[in-house]
Amino acid sequence: MTLLSEYLDAGTLLIINGLIALLSVLALVFAALRIANPEDRRGAMFLAAGYALMALGFGVLISPIFIPGLGSGALWGNALLDLGTIANFLALNAIFHRRGAEFWVLPAAIVMAIAELAIVARIGPDMRAMVALGAGLRACVTMATVFSLWHCNDPSRRPIALILAGFHGAWVVMLVLRIAWWLGNDANGVGHDPTSAFGLTARLLLTWAITPCYLWMIKREVDAELIRYARQDPLTGVANRRVVWQMGEARCNRARGKVGVIAIDIDHFKHINDRYGHGSGDAMLRLVADVLAQNLRSGDVLGRIGGEEFLILLADEAVEMRAALAERLRQAVADAALTLPDGQPLSCTISLGHAAVALPGPGWDATVQAADRALYAAKHGGRNRVMDAAQLAA
Ligand code: GH3
Ligand code: MG
Ligand code: MG
Repeated sequence: MTLLSEYLDAGTLLIINGLIALLSVLALVFAALRIANPEDRRGAMFLAAGYALMALGFGVLISPIFIPGLGSGALWGNALLDLGTIANFLALNAIFHRRGAEFWVLPAAIVMAIAELAIVARIGPDMRAMVALGAGLRACVTMATVFSLWHCNDPSRRPIALILAGFHGAWVVMLVLRIAWWLGNDANGVGHDPTSAFGLTARLLLTWAITPCYLWMIKREVDAELIRYARQDPLTGVANRRVVWQMGEARCNRARGKVGVIAIDIDHFKHINDRYGHGSGDAMLRLVADVLAQNLRSGDVLGRIGGEEFLILLADEAVEMRAALAERLRQAVADAALTLPDGQPLSCTISLGHAAVALPGPGWDATVQAADRALYAAKHGGRNRVMDAAQLAA
């Protein structure tokens, strides 16, 4: 472990560590700014803050070389590195939405930090105590980080989280080896730390390996967000028009079977906006979307295709049961109610038109038009009712 210090200069390693931490800050901030979700962006920024504290810590440790007479700075430099390690742990917990998990490590870290400060204050900078307690603190917090990464259940991020857990685990082993060296060797009175070149090289490799992993993880988040935005209606969270149209066209291009759709329009929705405000109108749209979604089977696709218009592309096995399903949806929406800011309930009704075509058929647009005509007839028939396109044609 001490062999490295014959070949590598601790000062140079400190400078490189500081610079690579600084580079990581810039890369992480740049990546974080592209995340639209504020909670995820905060996690990434927190990670950048952890690296910034570390860069500052390395800067303080190296400062005596550039500013003679400043004192060693070892205590404050290491304290900043400890804070950076804690910030990284908290940031990862925020990124993985593991609020409060593994927080047991924080009291342990505080106790070790206080013990280190007390020893330095009473008997001066004792290298053995400082390395053992400082590395012990970092080992505990890094081990908690390993647990946090290990428990990541998000399937898209789990592989990279496990790789990160492996690197952090290796870092814990390195810290334990360093503590063991100091406890096993009588190096009291040695003014410098012969294991620091080993520790700094390991830290350099760690940062070099994990920063790209973090960036990749953030990129996954940004990509997932873009995919969500491209497919979802932002107000209600159901599919948007494009998704339903693509799926509907694909179904209509099949050679056999049937395609079924239900077109839905909220009754007198303009009145809700005019009387109760646009906010209540939006809340009503979300409520209707939720009620519709709750009453569908897993193969049905619900999309918001216009202001207060929805379309359901039915699963193959639901096509023959569409009249019963449409009636169930009508009833469920009529039974649901929104609670207005003044506590009053507000409900609405919907009109529905459904259509089914045998394949090869007239195509997707014609199928939707047939359902629309039925919906129009339902409106004219008095609203809050279901109409079958087949009945109109008859
Ligand atoms: P009908 O029973 O004939 O369907 O009457 P209606 O009032 O529901 O139909 P109309 O087409 O006259 O009005 C639809 C209203 O939906 C008008 C528009 O301001 C409102 N709207 C469209 N998109 C949104 C939205 O995203 N939020 C809110 N709050 N209102 C919307
Ligand atoms: Mg309408
Ligand atoms: Mg309407």
